[in-house]
Amino acid sequence: MKEPFLQAIPILKRIEKYGFEAYFVGGSIRDLLLKRTISDVDIATSATPEEIKNIFNRTVDIGIEHGTVLVLYQDKKYEVTTFRSESQYKDHRHPDKVSFIRSLKMDLERRDFTMNAIAMDQFGNLKDPFDGKQDIEKKIIRTVGAAESRFREDALRMMRAVRFVSQLEFSIDQNTRNALTQHAHLLNFIAVERITNEFVKLLSGTAKTSAISILLDTNLVEFMPNPIDTKISLTKCSDFQIDILTENQMWLIILYFQSGEPVDYLKKWRLPNHKIKYLTTCLRFLKGRELKEWSELTLYPLNLEMAIDIETVYRTLQKQSITKVYDDITNKYNSLVIKSREELQVTGKDLIYWLNRPAGPWIKNALKDIEEAVLLKKIENSKDAIKGWILNQCNHRQERN
Ligand code: ATP
Ligand code: MG
Repeated sequence: MKEPFLQAIPILKRIEKYGFEAYFVGGSIRDLLLKRTISDVDIATSATPEEIKNIFNRTVDIGIEHGTVLVLYQDKKYEVTTFRSESQYKDHRHPDKVSFIRSLKMDLERRDFTMNAIAMDQFGNLKDPFDGKQDIEKKIIRTVGAAESRFREDALRMMRAVRFVSQLEFSIDQNTRNALTQHAHLLNFIAVERITNEFVKLLSGTAKTSAISILLDTNLVEFMPNPIDTKISLTKCSDFQIDILTENQMWLIILYFQSGEPVDYLKKWRLPNHKIKYLTTCLRFLKGRELKEWSELTLYPLNLEMAIDIETVYRTLQKQSITKVYDDITNKYNSLVIKSREELQVTGKDLIYWLNRPAGPWIKNALKDIEEAVLLKKIENSKDAIKGWILNQCNHRQERN
């Protein structure tokens, strides 16, 4: 046994001391078997939420109706969920009824994929009634039970299957895959935010090309946000080496292949406004980058992260290697004389004083000219040099008038 399970063992022990069963379950066991980084350790138990609240001093109700209580233990939080079964899903997304049960096997049975339906006791023994370990070894995503009915119950599972392809570099079992094609339309019942959430994870995975080809082949893409445009973009971007790109870089390459208004496109995915702003700015500069190499003036309005994202996508589209992007752009960026207006050695007040003019919109323009001259190394970024330059400019202007 290893961390983070070791730290949580006292919780299992305590629940068992009170006569109930308790196991580690779900994604953490899958990731343990895959030797991947383990995020949250979830616990499943035969105790009811009320019983869990009586056993532990510090708990928070976070989803009692689903059987989940948050247990606070040694500065960590653990979701402890009562074994449950789910019956009838009329709306293809939520069970009509959740029942608390005392059987681990039935709890594992309601889980989506065999790889996610493995439990582990406090001694490290696995309970694996659906041969999830074997599927993990074979790198196969397979529903627990008949794929058709599992996707009919909850259509989000289809998006989960495809994002796991991207994250884990697994393939989808043939029956499960056939059911994807058959039931793709049920994605219509799922809230956009939940589809986006899975798609974002897909875009961060390392087997994006395979996952995207499944979205296209099974027609799932037709039931995702902006279906027509998304299909065009995903088809086009699959011709490039996208597996190593980050999520933001993926959005940028998707946007690049759009003909419509990028803000409208991203809004339909319900992405947060700050992200929409980031991506649309990057897109604008990507189009500029296609016309010419970076210069002080094109690099300056961006931050380093943006410039790296833009250059990475640019080189990907050019089918060039991206291994040196970070060094190339960082060097260029670090050689900028100033990185922001705050670093400029003059302020609007200095200008008013030197030129003896009342405040007005001219200040903004003058600062912009100074900024540009400093960036292009036409003048040194010092008060004296800038003062000399600006007075000189004014004299010229007066002479011309
Ligand atoms: P991640 O690493 O992304 O957290 P995960 O498998 O832990 O992946 P969660 O959404 O945290 O995914 O869910 C925890 C567990 O709950 C899953 O491993 C699975 O057993 C079960 N589960 C989650 N979503 C569903 C679903 N839609 N249908 C059935 N079981 C589900
Ligand atoms: Mg999880």
